[in-house]
Amino acid sequence: MTSREIRQAFLNFFKSKGHEIVPSAPIVVKNDPTLMFTNAGMNQFKELFLGEAPIKYSRVVDTQRCLRVSGKHNDLEEVGIDTYHHTMFEMLGNWSFGDYFKKEAIAWSWELLTNVYKIDKDRLYVTVFEGDSEEGLPEDTEAYGYWKEHIDSTRILKGNKKDNFWEMGETGPCGPCSEIHVDCRSDEERRMIDGSTLVNADHPQVIEIWNNVFMQFNRLKDGSLQPLPAKHVDTGMGFERLVRVLQSKTSNYDTDIFQPLIQLIAKAAKVQYGENEQQDIAMRVMADHIRAISFAIADGQLPSNNKAGYVIRRILRRAVRYAYTFLNFKEPFLNTLVIPLAQQFEGVFDELYKQQDFVQKVVLEEELSFLRTLVTGIQRFESYHTDQGLVSGDFAFELYDTYGFPIDLTDLMAREKGWKVDMPGFENALNKQKERSRAATAIDTGDWVTVNEDGETHFVGYDNLATETKILKYRKVSAKGKIQYQLVLSQTPFYAEGGGQVGDTGILIHETSKETIQIVDTKKENGLIIHFSDELPSHLEGVFFAKVAEDRRRDIQSNHSATHLLHAALKQVLGEHVNQKGSLVSEEVLRFDFSHFAKVSDEELRRVEQVVNAKIRENLALDERRNVPYNDAIDMGVTALFGEKYGDFVRVIIFDENFSKELCGGTHVQYTGNIGFFKILSEGAVAAGVRRIEAITGRRAEEIIDRQDELINELKNLLKQPKDLSAAITGLLQENSKLKKEVEKSLVEKAQQLRQVLVEKAIDINGVRFIGEQVELPNADAVKNLAFAIKKAIDNSLFLVLAADFDGKPNLTVVLSDDLVNRGLDAGKIVRELAKEIKGGGGGQPFYATAGGKDSSGLTVALEKAKSFVG
Ligand code: ATP
Ligand code: MG
Repeated sequence: MTSREIRQAFLNFFKSKGHEIVPSAPIVVKNDPTLMFTNAGMNQFKELFLGEAPIKYSRVVDTQRCLRVSGKHNDLEEVGIDTYHHTMFEMLGNWSFGDYFKKEAIAWSWELLTNVYKIDKDRLYVTVFEGDSEEGLPEDTEAYGYWKEHIDSTRILKGNKKDNFWEMGETGPCGPCSEIHVDCRSDEERRMIDGSTLVNADHPQVIEIWNNVFMQFNRLKDGSLQPLPAKHVDTGMGFERLVRVLQSKTSNYDTDIFQPLIQLIAKAAKVQYGENEQQDIAMRVMADHIRAISFAIADGQLPSNNKAGYVIRRILRRAVRYAYTFLNFKEPFLNTLVIPLAQQFEGVFDELYKQQDFVQKVVLEEELSFLRTLVTGIQRFESYHTDQGLVSGDFAFELYDTYGFPIDLTDLMAREKGWKVDMPGFENALNKQKERSRAATAIDTGDWVTVNEDGETHFVGYDNLATETKILKYRKVSAKGKIQYQLVLSQTPFYAEGGGQVGDTGILIHETSKETIQIVDTKKENGLIIHFSDELPSHLEGVFFAKVAEDRRRDIQSNHSATHLLHAALKQVLGEHVNQKGSLVSEEVLRFDFSHFAKVSDEELRRVEQVVNAKIRENLALDERRNVPYNDAIDMGVTALFGEKYGDFVRVIIFDENFSKELCGGTHVQYTGNIGFFKILSEGAVAAGVRRIEAITGRRAEEIIDRQDELINELKNLLKQPKDLSAAITGLLQENSKLKKEVEKSLVEKAQQLRQVLVEKAIDINGVRFIGEQVELPNADAVKNLAFAIKKAIDNSLFLVLAADFDGKPNLTVVLSDDLVNRGLDAGKIVRELAKEIKGGGGGQPFYATAGGKDSSGLTVALEKAKSFVG
């Protein structure tokens, strides 16, 4: 079976058992502060488990792209070294939301593996939870009983909390689980050592392929377990591992999922896969990492210097570094793998296929810039000195932190020089940094406290800016020493930050006590609308009046609608390749990032502005359609965004059928005329292939125009109201440069005259021609020129001392002809001695030296004193 067929067989099997096939969620998580990337199939269903969102299908099946490179599940360091952990992998899953439970889940997984995929029964082992007395959890005898109906009891092993109790993170849904392991060893090996002793023992040929989790609890902040409102099934089977078993390979990388990429790499590196372990690891790292990077970028996460963006950047650098060190790739190469990868996933995850050129371009730019850093880092290393043959922990950390050198690279380079790396020192520096960043981002989130039982939040903010409401629950959070409260309301007009639009602010007034609480921000967490406040109402019960800050909301709406018009205008002016890559809509500005490979010219920007402003003047009415089936919306030709997770029913925002149609959850103006006026402030690059436009609308655009008007009036006043302002300024500039030239010319003339005068003033002191004069020149350069001109005129026995005063700053210059230098005189020494008279210091060469000081009144004395050096 090919990998494509294996994936399809999984989906079809569960479809035949009444499951709905649903798409994968994006790999980048946007609405959950506890998670950066999707790390398991269950993430997108978290709310369903917690009972926070309505269940649409009670049975679902999918393949979810996952990334395990941060947080609780982090496999990065294993990847490439072993042959069955990846950064990005597919998790096949079947789900029951309050529907079937252990019995069916166990029976179907057995049927699929042994009947459909025809895996040898005597190669399979399963595990069940043995219980945990500390947690007060009993052994899962139920699962044990159901397994016994299919498999010999010697193959059912009991496992502890670590292996058989699955948890998404520190808090959240969890429950006992039952894993399925496959023994892929040869018959001979299997005869020698009993497979059951190798389960969960990190044996590369006895691996876990499938985990059936029976969701029963929610882990709270204080560590306790709270039973969930209903019981669910959450299963996850590693697709790459399954394919490896079914294709009878001993490594995931030998399957048709990875071999095409590995062969491309091997060919370009002019090596064979399977001949040298170190090179093989490098090829595996590259083939694996390009998948993680490409899908993350396609889902909207560009590499950057913080948070999720930095994780992606680090993965990319890890791959580049392996390629560079072990396969001698000195030029960018990884980016060329994007296209074949995209083709491989066509029809499975089309997000990449549709954006392959863009993703390739981003990867290329990242490679180029990292290769430059890598070279600088290697130079830094080459110029490092150590007497003890030990690379200090701090230096290794600098290479790691600034130049992206993983420690094993530094170690390798050190060994090549016969040195060692101070590992404890490095760990220490690393831990210090980790602590610093942990302290900076630590958020302490308390558990929810229920005020009014049940009920979901109704968002009424599309139609109303104020409403009556009740507090459903609240919790306390503290971050960076600041305490805030998060409130969930029964009804709310507050828009939660999302789709680029900032969250609403406003007030909450208690009906009877009239106490008023400021809502400072509104955010969404897993679909839950959370209101942020710096204080907790003293009465939590009773009716509240929730009111959004109106003017601010109106400004935000103008900017949001203008963003839609801008997006459509850009497509019209620049072309259909323009895709939104990010946006920020606040009350102040709108910021729009989009894919485009060149700078947008001034003329194009003007045209975009004109298109947008024309649409504003047309005063188009908002055509808002709620609850449109997703597929109907796509058929209408709406613009959907990559990396955005849409539900089955979507909201469509239209301004002119033929102009702008977007899927959008944000708030908008009723008529485009409300926007007033649109003005672009700037255009620039944010990343490879991504441009950013910043613009303003309405009141703020008016303010900017006013300010520019004022500035022009000021200029006109200064120039005495010229008819043509720009001609007047050009005239001034021309005149200025003409005057400058004249000044320079007259300075040269003056210097020539001065030279003549000074040469004639030379007096003879013991055979030395001494000149000591104060001159009127504007700067040190002019004095220097004069001094050298005199030296040219008198080429022997010259001892010249020039004093000058530049706006209160005294200056001395001493010049000696070469014969005097040969006789042992030193201009540097002389000028330092003379400088004492002007309370200063200086120096230079034996034939020419200068000094500056603080006291101009000493210049005359200095000139007089000079004579004593030859007198
Ligand atoms: P392991 O102990 O092998 O790391 P796990 O206990 O972390 O696995 P689960 O969290 O139960 O795995 O995930 C379910 C399935 O996903 C596993 O049975 C396995 O087949 C697959 N899987 C987990 N992590 C990875 C990974 N990094 N790369 C590929 N497949 C994985
Ligand atoms: Mg794991």
